[in-house]
Amino acid sequence: MERDAVFRKKYSIHVSGTNVPSPLKTFAELSSRYGCESYLLHNLAELGFKEPTPIQRQAITVLLCDRECFACAPTGSGKTLAFLCPMLMKLKHASKEGIRAVIMCPTRELAVQTTRECKNLAKGTKFRIKLMKKELMRGADLSKFSCDVLISTPLRLRLAIRKKKMDLSRVEYLVLDEADKLFEVGSLLKQIDPVVKACSNPSIVRSLFSATLPDFVEELARSIMHDAVRVIIGRKNT
Ligand code: ADP
Ligand code: MG
Repeated sequence: MERDAVFRKKYSIHVSGTNVPSPLKTFAELSSRYGCESYLLHNLAELGFKEPTPIQRQAITVLLCDRECFACAPTGSGKTLAFLCPMLMKLKHASKEGIRAVIMCPTRELAVQTTRECKNLAKGTKFRIKLMKKELMRGADLSKFSCDVLISTPLRLRLAIRKKKMDLSRVEYLVLDEADKLFEVGSLLKQIDPVVKACSNPSIVRSLFSATLPDFVEELARSIMHDAVRVIIGRKNT
């Protein structure tokens, strides 16, 4: 077996798709292989993260190679960091060029928690990381609103686009987190589609993370993404 295959087997990483990049052996490779800024390794160490979890090993390199990704790994296996790390690396530096990355979470609590984790990981940088709050929604016109990372539930984001002219046409990076929950509620699904459409930048990299991958989620993932890599840790629906 080739080396990547042996390594993946060791961590129960299952991949499908063409030309899947090698999994990450250590966080240090983020610097040595992918040239990350020093703040990132520093913050990972501060947070006490010594080595990547299986989902992080594979999803991070897939996303760093600008491949779209749908990933399934058990609850508590570190999926948040698996999309935050490559996202911050891809954004490189803070910039005021519109809204650059969007993370959709099924619930407010999860959005709050994800915002906190993102800020912890970005400590020492100038990235503007924003939670879509009620206060923000009070602005009548959000067409000029900008930030590096915007974290929201689908409902609020949908309203901001429709009623407040929020512009997502420059989004480079879109994450659907806890996709099984995002999609299981019919009403949420209706909110997601317009958001995905509003993210019209042709070079966008979309990703979807989930604890389970029922067929309807997989179908939706395939309808949203092109040439995506599928990453599954352990078994598909456990
Ligand atoms: P999931 O989204 O898969 O349910 P989370 O991203 O919420 O999991 O992570 C679960 C916990 O594991 C969090 O407390 C997080 O800080 C921690 N964690 C994430 N990555 C690592 C790592 N590489 N090493 C140690 N702990 C980690
Ligand atoms: Mg999660």
